[in-house]
Amino acid sequence: MAIIPVPQLSDNYAYLVVDDASRECGVVDCSEAAKVLDAVQRQGLKLVAVLPTHWHFDHVGGNEDLARALPGIRVYGARNENGRIPAQTNEVADGATVRVGALTGRVIGIPAHTNGHVAYYFPELEAVFTGDTMFIAGCGRVFEGKAETMVASLAKLAALPAATRVYCGHEYTVKNLEFALTLEPGNQALKAKYAWAKKARAAGQFTIPSTIGDEQQFNPFLRTASPELRASLKKIDPALPDDPVAIFAAARALKDKF
Ligand SMILES: [Zn+2]
Repeated sequence: MAIIPVPQLSDNYAYLVVDDASRECGVVDCSEAAKVLDAVQRQGLKLVAVLPTHWHFDHVGGNEDLARALPGIRVYGARNENGRIPAQTNEVADGATVRVGALTGRVIGIPAHTNGHVAYYFPELEAVFTGDTMFIAGCGRVFEGKAETMVASLAKLAALPAATRVYCGHEYTVKNLEFALTLEPGNQALKAKYAWAKKARAAGQFTIPSTIGDEQQFNPFLRTASPELRASLKKIDPALPDDPVAIFAAARALKDKF
């Protein structure tokens, strides 16, 4: 298996990205080094790189411990995070590449949750790591940008091939789907995903990954053109303009209080 989730804290995910040939791996978003190092050892892997999506503590809290345990490990950090990635060794920016064994990942700049938030896209694995920008059926809070910044960032992710698997930073899926249902109660794909996710969580299973194609069916923050979603928002604010950024902002504001 080329991607191994490692639960962190109460609802975070770190992910091991494995190059099967060399048995080298990278870790996306490590907040608890011990759990990550345990998983690396259990799988018989060699951890060579840390790939943080953004500077928030629950995504980088384990970096210093990893760097101490594994001298020489590469710790990538986005330029626009302005040095806030602990133990950073390699600066990257939108369009740069990262290496894990023979695998190459592309850095995609997706600001808004933080200024330097990035995704890592591995075409060979058909996988993208989206941190706190795109969740399953949701998106992150807009802390360091504007609504239009997040709309543009989500559009970059949505433009990846439909089969691309989405690995996000938190297990927020059920709550996200409950919110989405308030806006699109008639969306069949959404209802089916909610039933599936409730069952998966009750059985103690992860709801990651999703796919870009599936997200387009039920993620409200990618569905600003949906007539049902727009109608739901206009019931609350009849003056809301038919503009993707305004629709996004109205949905995001509701989610902030949900
Ligand atoms: Zn965050």
